[in-house]
Amino acid sequence: MGRPPRDTHLLRALTQLLVPSSEIDWADAQCSGHPEPELWFPFPSESFDVAARLCAACPLRQACYEFGIDNHLDGVWGGVDLMYGRTVAHTA
Ligand code: SF4
Repeated sequence: MGRPPRDTHLLRALTQLLVPSSEIDWADAQCSGHPEPELWFPFPSESFDVAARLCAACPLRQACYEFGIDNHLDGVWGGVDLMYGRTVAHTA
């Protein structure tokens, strides 16, 4: 069973909803306002290298990763691809 189809407008709305939903100041996020938020929600066969590179330079990396784990989220959080809050294993 794969992930549900992506809807860019929905993803944009969800990432905006995260702002008031936590103590993290997402305004400092490297991904904040990025025109392609779907890069943080790759299909299993897709690379998330671009998202991971931006995450590597993000001051929120550790807090973001813990947020993704704690809230059982899908997508790239803190530079790590998660599904239901668990690390997705990628093969080369
Ligand atoms: S670590 Fe990555 S996903 Fe998390 S806020 Fe920073 S850029 Fe965004």
